[in-house]
Amino acid sequence: MTAFDLTGKVALVTGGNGGIGLGMAKGLVDAGALVMVAGRNAEKNRGAVEALGAKADAIAADLTEGSGAKAAVAAAVQKFGRLDIVVNNAGTNIRRAPQDYSLEEWHSVLNINLTSMFLCCQAAYPHLRERGGKIINIGSMMSIFGASFAAPYGASKGAVVQLTKSLAIAWAPDKIQVNAVLPGWIDTDLTKGARQEISGLHEKVLARSPAGRWGNPGDMAGIAVFLASPASDFITGTAIPVDGGYSAQG
Ligand code: NDP
Repeated sequence: MTAFDLTGKVALVTGGNGGIGLGMAKGLVDAGALVMVAGRNAEKNRGAVEALGAKADAIAADLTEGSGAKAAVAAAVQKFGRLDIVVNNAGTNIRRAPQDYSLEEWHSVLNINLTSMFLCCQAAYPHLRERGGKIINIGSMMSIFGASFAAPYGASKGAVVQLTKSLAIAWAPDKIQVNAVLPGWIDTDLTKGARQEISGLHEKVLARSPAGRWGNPGDMAGIAVFLASPASDFITGTAIPVDGGYSAQG
């Protein structure tokens, strides 16, 4: 058994039916974990379970509702008998000039990116504290930088880092480590939309990234395994960029 072995551990991956969440879920399954995926779209959920194989299942849930978050946690515990790891990855963006957002749009982005994370952490806590556990919260480059077209998204992703620190401090005595991951520009449905809406984005990302490429969901698997495993037991309250060097460039 290596320090990265997740055999016997159970993970809930929100938004694990595609993109970064599915990339992380694959990493966790490959390391031995059993994975419950939670997303609203039943068809995407089915596709994810097919891709992940027998060690995975899925629940259709809207995580912006307290009942959805509780149902997702309960599904993982009922199916696999325990809960050790939560990857809070569900997220969205609405791109506009700041002055053009409706209040409904503002709340919608904050609810998915931030409130659902908090609700899932609250629902998971009683289970994680039984044996200690791992929470991995997905931030963004916009946890660090602003963007003219993403005011609520940036506000939510900045808050993800501060929420992560507060939970890390509060739950350290329970042996629960809470960390954030800040992905760079990763090729997913979310960023396909961004590339259509923001002219020149694709080339700007290439020009700024020392790695010289966009990331892919598979690039997110290693950090998920590391932060879910005993190898990271002394790491908590951090925010780790996984960005091909994008945030290192001034
Ligand atoms: P996708 O659009 O591919 O994935 C978003 C996921 O969130 C989907 O699985 C979606 O499932 C789920 N989701 C959205 N709303 C809800 C909800 N209310 N309840 C439950 N699930 C929900 O995008 P990415 O993979 O790119 O994004 C994943 C995360 O990574 C997000 O938090 C995003 O902000 C972050 N990120 C992405 C970057 C990138 O470059 N791609 C960069 C930095 C951060 P369903 O539709 O079935 O509900």
